[in-house]
Amino acid sequence: MMKISALETIHLPEYPAFLFVAVHTDDGLIGYADTCYASEAVAGFIHQFAAPMLIGHDPLAIELHWRRLYEVIAHTVGKGAELRGLSAIDVCLWDILGQAAGMPIWQVLGGAARDRIKTYNTCGGPNYGKAVKGGTGYGTENPTGKYEDLAAFMERADELAFDLLSEDITAMKIWPFDYVAHFPGGWDNWRNFRGMFDPTIRSLGGHDISTADIDRALEPFRKIRKVVGDRMEIMLEGHGLWSLPAATKIARAVEEFRPAWLEDLMRADEVEALAELRSQTTTPILASEYLATRYEYKPLLEARAVDIVMIDPTWAGGITECKKICTMAETYKRPVAMHDCTGPFTLFAGIHLAINATNAIYQESVRAFIRVNYPDIATEMPVIEKGHILAPTKPGLGTAFLPDIRKRPGVTVRITR
Ligand SMILES: [Mg+2]
Repeated sequence: MMKISALETIHLPEYPAFLFVAVHTDDGLIGYADTCYASEAVAGFIHQFAAPMLIGHDPLAIELHWRRLYEVIAHTVGKGAELRGLSAIDVCLWDILGQAAGMPIWQVLGGAARDRIKTYNTCGGPNYGKAVKGGTGYGTENPTGKYEDLAAFMERADELAFDLLSEDITAMKIWPFDYVAHFPGGWDNWRNFRGMFDPTIRSLGGHDISTADIDRALEPFRKIRKVVGDRMEIMLEGHGLWSLPAATKIARAVEEFRPAWLEDLMRADEVEALAELRSQTTTPILASEYLATRYEYKPLLEARAVDIVMIDPTWAGGITECKKICTMAETYKRPVAMHDCTGPFTLFAGIHLAINATNAIYQESVRAFIRVNYPDIATEMPVIEKGHILAPTKPGLGTAFLPDIRKRPGVTVRITR
């Protein structure tokens, strides 16, 4: 029987929020994953807690390992970094299973519900979500010149929509209201906003929004609809910044532009409030990559607070748990969309789930990441044709670390055998 021989974590200084994880086996198979935020805390969990529970055991007993680790996590109220650690390990184990079977993960999950999944471009630049002092930010302070799609949607959303259409991308996600949430009048200073992790920010929590600020933030919607009509779907991202009255104002104001969905205008941690918002608008409500495990998604579905369910594979519990969340959403006749922004291996995990799940409608992607950041980390990138990501064909996840990644300057490699 194959056995888990080591757990390895890799941290690259240029991607401080990301933690890369490898599970090694005595057969020589290696499963890969990544997870995002508080990378040192996640590494601590993996080496201190998970390694002693997994080393010497069968890597293919995935369901059992998930439950064993989850019991430890739940017992210690460790649903943040610990759950992200479990999620990454779980993705590694599925990667190993696929490689051992000689099949892509979507195949061992039960096969393909489709041969490709529609994608939309999340309009962040290459530095979007990268670390600044105190955390991660919007990445607009030091533009790279390439694929600066956040600056583009703020300043020339019409040109950006044209550019995406020329690549056959027919859906785009933008967040022009964020800059007003951080403090009123914030629009004028948007390039310098580092984001909610900025320790100097004086956040008012998005409890109100003025008519003038709403009008300014609608400008990208106006520009896009004016030049491309309805050939482009527009997703509005809210990053959980608003309270109910402001979210309701925003929801009603954008209705005339027929957005595909309203994503996390409020955090989905108060299901009744989200259900109230849903009752106040005709636009579908999407929530939320900020939730983890079935146990957090279930109340949302029960309360009819959501139309579309967003899932991040390495925040919500790994492939094992996300498959179950997809199935649970389907029970409530809700489609699912898979989150990206948190690393190349997470993106691949989402693609496999979206190819397998009958109720998947979208896999998020960021062209700046697929073209600039992710090729700096992983061997294979997703294949995108006419706005759709094709089902990966290689065994397992279908991508791996670049061979020289452990030799880079400043890299931190920890291995527990
Ligand atoms: Mg989101």
